[in-house]
Amino acid sequence: MKTKGKGFNTKLIHAGRYEDMFGSATVPIYQSSTFAFRNAKHGADLFSGKEKGYIYTRIGNPTINALEDNIAELENGYGGIATSSGMGATNTVYMCFLEDGAHMISTASVYGPSRGVMENYWSRYGVESSYTDTSDLRTIRDSIRPNTRLLYLETPSNPTIQLSDIKECAELAHKHGIILVVDNTFSSPYLQNPLNLGADVVLHSVTKFINGHADIVGGIIVPKTKEHYDKLRHTMISLGCNMDPHQAYMVLRGVKTLALRIEKAEKTAIEIAGWLEKHPKVEWVKYPGLKSHPQYDLARKQMRGFGTMISFEMKGGIAAGETLMNNVRVALLAVSLGGVETLIQHPASMTHSGLPKKKRLQAGITDGLVRYSTGIENAEDLINDLKQALDKV
Ligand SMILES: *Cc1c(COP(=O)(O)O)cnc(C)c1O
Repeated sequence: MKTKGKGFNTKLIHAGRYEDMFGSATVPIYQSSTFAFRNAKHGADLFSGKEKGYIYTRIGNPTINALEDNIAELENGYGGIATSSGMGATNTVYMCFLEDGAHMISTASVYGPSRGVMENYWSRYGVESSYTDTSDLRTIRDSIRPNTRLLYLETPSNPTIQLSDIKECAELAHKHGIILVVDNTFSSPYLQNPLNLGADVVLHSVTKFINGHADIVGGIIVPKTKEHYDKLRHTMISLGCNMDPHQAYMVLRGVKTLALRIEKAEKTAIEIAGWLEKHPKVEWVKYPGLKSHPQYDLARKQMRGFGTMISFEMKGGIAAGETLMNNVRVALLAVSLGGVETLIQHPASMTHSGLPKKKRLQAGITDGLVRYSTGIENAEDLINDLKQALDKV
């Protein structure tokens, strides 16, 4: 269905869906690795691009394509490139835009493995990187070198919930011929559309909000232009980190309720963040919807809501955080985020444990920092759960 100009919820349900011969309401799972050509000329025309169609699932597949079209429309991009995981999307972007001797600037508290793979692997191929506080435009400007190719932002960042001004970053990057990539996983297309603010490429771990049900891992890249789309698709095909048709089907199913899920979870997150801020055992709370958040105004300007992710620092550091996490009964003690179930985790010992302590502290990930991903359970149950666990600290 053509959904250009339609509302967000209509797009969630119908963008990318196509009529098949049986009138299926949902996009079927085309669990086929290869597609037969009608004749030799048809095969040749598909390979040369003269005709559109399917050749081989690593290159393209109808179920995966439906998801790519859906997310591309939600992000207002040229097209989507679905990947096996969020890290597949990240590495495709690195491989596509960076070469031996190139330099990348990124958010210091970016998703741990996005930084780890750059510093531990891409560095071996001569790629240079600087990790800075991208919420401060001056530090980005100071990090720009003649060989800087990429500015890779995560906003809000993980797990410090710090925002970077996408519009200002886009202007600065473009003045220096730098490509701006935004990891939009923490917001989802429902809360923020980086391409509309000037970014060149947006990517997601669809494992999180877009799928939303903690049952698959996946990623997607959505560039603004055909030129970037062609380059990125070719890179993904070469790297071989394509999504699988069954994965794509699950994500198409999950994405339909994206707005409903976030609206519900966000209401609860606002309530919990306010409640935590007043709790005597909590040192501070970081949530963009709190007036105390240093970038509350930026959040209101560049996002359509405040999201469902809360970080807070326990008084009493690691030990207090451990007691809290060992005593919650409704929230699951697990990494990941953006699902229907509430999750709690401790970045210093879990998601960001691969980062040396000095770098971790520089990135703002303190010892007692707890990350809370609000799900869609009843708010009262979640607050009572936190209350009884905090009482034990
Ligand atoms: C989870 C996550 C990733 C990586 O995605 P995977 O699907 O786990 O590979 C990248 N960026 C952010 C912000 C994430 O939360």
